[in-house]
Amino acid sequence: MKYISTRGDQTPRVFSEILLEGLAPDGGLYLPEAYPQVSAATLARWRGLSYAELAFEILSLYIDDIPPLDLKRLVDRTYTEEVFGTKAIVPLRPLGEGLSLEALSNGPTLAFKDMAMQLLGNLFEYELGRRGETLNILGATSGDTGSAAEYAMRGKAGVRVFMLSPKGRMSPFQQAQMFSLQDENIHNLAVDGVFDDCQDIVKAVSNDLAFKRQYRIGTVNSINWARLLAQVVYYFAGYFQATKTNDEVVSFTVPSGNFGNVCAGHVARQMGLPIAKLVVATNENDVLDEFFRTGSYRVRGSAETYETSSPSMDISKASNFERFVFDLLGRDGARTQELFGRAIARDGLFALSADETARIAAFGFESGRSTHADRITTIRDTWHTCGELIDTHTADGVKVASEHRVPGVPMIVLETALPAKFAASIEEAVGFAPPVPAALADLETRPRRSVDMPADAATIKAYLASHVPEAHGA
Ligand SMILES: *Cc1c(COP(=O)(O)O)cnc(C)c1O
Repeated sequence: MKYISTRGDQTPRVFSEILLEGLAPDGGLYLPEAYPQVSAATLARWRGLSYAELAFEILSLYIDDIPPLDLKRLVDRTYTEEVFGTKAIVPLRPLGEGLSLEALSNGPTLAFKDMAMQLLGNLFEYELGRRGETLNILGATSGDTGSAAEYAMRGKAGVRVFMLSPKGRMSPFQQAQMFSLQDENIHNLAVDGVFDDCQDIVKAVSNDLAFKRQYRIGTVNSINWARLLAQVVYYFAGYFQATKTNDEVVSFTVPSGNFGNVCAGHVARQMGLPIAKLVVATNENDVLDEFFRTGSYRVRGSAETYETSSPSMDISKASNFERFVFDLLGRDGARTQELFGRAIARDGLFALSADETARIAAFGFESGRSTHADRITTIRDTWHTCGELIDTHTADGVKVASEHRVPGVPMIVLETALPAKFAASIEEAVGFAPPVPAALADLETRPRRSVDMPADAATIKAYLASHVPEAHGA
């Protein structure tokens, strides 16, 4: 399997070449040159597999430069009951009327990002070990991504994480989650500023190419292909649980922000998984809902990017979206470059032609949006009618799913976080605080490990330099 860029660079690359990279050199995103097709016989064989076995089968179709026994060991070590809480790893829970929830949030940080990030940690350690290299991951977080990355990379050989967060501005739970990590390779840098300051510092450091090379700076952002690939597995696992035979079809509704999660559903559907609809659910930040209704994609400015009670979906643009558009346009790299490389850079928007827009339906996509009032009502109703407590992001999904249900087609809503992370909204909806998993009951009283930093790139660089000993003299 070889990988190409969405912007026309056809240089074939193997999996381990793109594993540690972000964008392709032409500014595009990596995709496999073709999606492997899953035959009826293969689908039948996969139905009986455990989650880790299924993950190995699917990953093997995309990764041919890691020896199968090594890949098997990495996957088996990742998807365990110990880490994800159940033998099924992603069990379904019925909500009635053909709707069910697929639990993706029982990993260490109580959000679905662990599903991919835990695998990425093991893949990074393996690949760096094989090359005899080290990597220093520099990131900025306002909550979810940073903690998922830290819990994936903690204790991993060859990897250090330097995570910038706005001091005092994360939720107490998220702050405790990150700062209580005692691993020596994890560095929490609490920056005196807001999230944008943190992100600007990361950009400034990454733009210093000499520094970046000398100190082997990398990232783990959501455009990483391995993250997306790991997420393909739970679409298959959800399908097998919701159906008895492979003649049946199901639909998925996906609470969406950067389009990574639902893009994995698109890949599963392209491989031949019998998915009827992929329903994109957004909150008030409805860039994607607008696109799927109109064919126009308009990046929002900061004045139009809202802070909501489903904060992990508060995006101004969707960084994985280009992958879908490339497929929608018949994999025309020049046209994709025209839209993302030129129109977006110049005008912050593009509109597909009527002809191009008409193709969306054939890819199964539909969309809807939800508001704070919708979330609160949905959390309350789901609790009172089904006895299930859901978080605010999942509530956006349930709300939109109920508007897109079709009789006879199971609708699976992806549960992207647990309610324990968003206590204030849950209390507003049902009048009591969400339960905290027993293993995390003492989280907020554990000792903390973080370093206060000014919002200054030079100071952060100096900290990095003094904590990356192997780069000295490079
Ligand atoms: C990251 C995140 C999302 C959005 O997922 P994308 O892959 O960016 O679309 C939704 N819900 C939660 C809880 C998240 O952490």
